[in-house]
Amino acid sequence: AVPVALSAGLSRAAGSGVLIKGGKVLERMAGLRTVVMDKTGTLTHGEARLTGITTTGGMDGARILQLAASLEQASTHPIAARICKAAMADGLALESPRNVVETAGEGLTGMVGGHEVVVGQPAFVGARAAGTPPQDGVAVAVDGRIVGAMQLQDALRDDVQGLLGTFRRAGISRIVVATGDKRAVAEQLTRGLPVDAVHAEMTPEEKSELVASESRLAPTMMIGDGVNDAPALAIADVGVAMGVRGAAATAETADAVLLVDRISALGNALRASQRARAIAF
Ligand code: ADP
Ligand code: MG
Repeated sequence: AVPVALSAGLSRAAGSGVLIKGGKVLERMAGLRTVVMDKTGTLTHGEARLTGITTTGGMDGARILQLAASLEQASTHPIAARICKAAMADGLALESPRNVVETAGEGLTGMVGGHEVVVGQPAFVGARAAGTPPQDGVAVAVDGRIVGAMQLQDALRDDVQGLLGTFRRAGISRIVVATGDKRAVAEQLTRGLPVDAVHAEMTPEEKSELVASESRLAPTMMIGDGVNDAPALAIADVGVAMGVRGAAATAETADAVLLVDRISALGNALRASQRARAIAF
């Protein structure tokens, strides 16, 4: 490879907001054919709005929010930050959680002011507390009983459509979405996008197996923001971390880091890598 073309490519990518960790990564990037994308925090802003709280026991919504937000202070998941924000906007005082255990992409358990609290996906909470888990939303259990669910609404990034168009024109022939969230949520969100497949309710291991199997077929990029994406980022031909609000662990594992809150910058980086290849390798 011609070093000058590589460093020009790297600096062009950096100029558009993508840190690429070296010339080898740039070379691999130029040959990508498949892209696997996470949903929450990647396709979406991860700035979900709390739209409502449904209660299934006697506990009122404000108390549910206060207990859930107190526990979520310990989580780096984008949903956690939004739940804390909503609680503070309502003037609720948060308590420090203790003995917190988080299961990446599923939820967390811990103690808040003497109460045992579980927050996360309905199935996760349902497996740890009595009562009927909610159909959707983020479920909450207190002292072993499901007490309600918080509804959050997350929006697609407005530059996703443009990015996927750029990917297609740059020779990416397969675009796959992989999410820990429910299929219905993922399908509704990706309607109208040029996406070839949607995989829902995926554990971190399943995401990484998916990326491994895609990469056996064609050179594959994985884009993700969460702790639950880290194994998939590590196994991809090119792993890209969402650097702005993403979990720190992902930026370390990844081959490239998006340093701006504009995902379309990845299209510029891909083109920069291909231009460098045309000159250099
Ligand atoms: P994605 O793979 O699309 O980024 P995640 O796997 O990170 O989504 O999360 C999937 C779902 O798991 C969320 O929509 C939410 O219901 C639940 N979840 C994960 N972590 C948390 C958390 N800390 N608090 C509440 N819910 C969580
Ligand atoms: Mg995510």
